[in-house]
Amino acid sequence: MNRKPTPRPPASRDAIVSLLNATLRTAEISDRSVNGLQVEGAEKITKIGLAVDASLATYKIAKEKGCQMIIVHHGMIWDGIKSITGPIYKQIEFLVKNNINLYASHLPLDLHPTLGNNILIAKALGLKNIQPFGVYKNGMHIGFEGRLPKAATVKSMSELVKKKFGGPVSALPFGPQKIWRVAVIAGGGSASIPEAIEKKIDLYVTGESVHENHHAALEGNLNVIYGGHYHTEKPGVQALGEFLSKKFGVKTEFLDVPTLV
Ligand SMILES: [Zn+2]
Repeated sequence: MNRKPTPRPPASRDAIVSLLNATLRTAEISDRSVNGLQVEGAEKITKIGLAVDASLATYKIAKEKGCQMIIVHHGMIWDGIKSITGPIYKQIEFLVKNNINLYASHLPLDLHPTLGNNILIAKALGLKNIQPFGVYKNGMHIGFEGRLPKAATVKSMSELVKKKFGGPVSALPFGPQKIWRVAVIAGGGSASIPEAIEKKIDLYVTGESVHENHHAALEGNLNVIYGGHYHTEKPGVQALGEFLSKKFGVKTEFLDVPTLV
């Protein structure tokens, strides 16, 4: 006789938020993003949607999928709210009407040593002897660098980045032909190109390009691979989904809403 498994009781929103804030060190890490619970919804959670971006498109999918909470890397509130009008009004209205919580974690999720985008990229690319890279404020590091066990090329690493993260990949092949030392910062990591050059990194992997990277990388003898801002920032929220499903027994689902940028 088949017995239906007894459904797990819902998890408490406050318990989820407390655990996330403690694990991600939300209060300690200064950021333009207002990290933490940005919009309050239902108190009892049975399903959490994980996404890269806060957007109406993401919220609508979360509602269809029966999520009471959405956790995003790029939240809705940056530098505080100045007015509740236009697109911000529509986003808040949708979340409030549908009783959906919105939790955001930007830099805390980039730099986290086990659940963060950057460590997960470093591991996915097979780096060994992983060390901090990418100085941000107050000596805090955002990214990681490491060494490949076998020399690679820009072509082979581009293929690996494409395979692991699925985004459109482009490259500035201006560094050594044999790649050993690799540094990574997900998303918009162009600001750390000078540090990669100074540290004689062979390949810098980030998400998104800006125009001035071309001559900087060329003159600095640096290879750069761009794996897509969206695609390089999927691993962190996906890891948070697994983490929360283990801790609370809630259902989790990655809400894939890729951007065209
Ligand atoms: Zn980003």
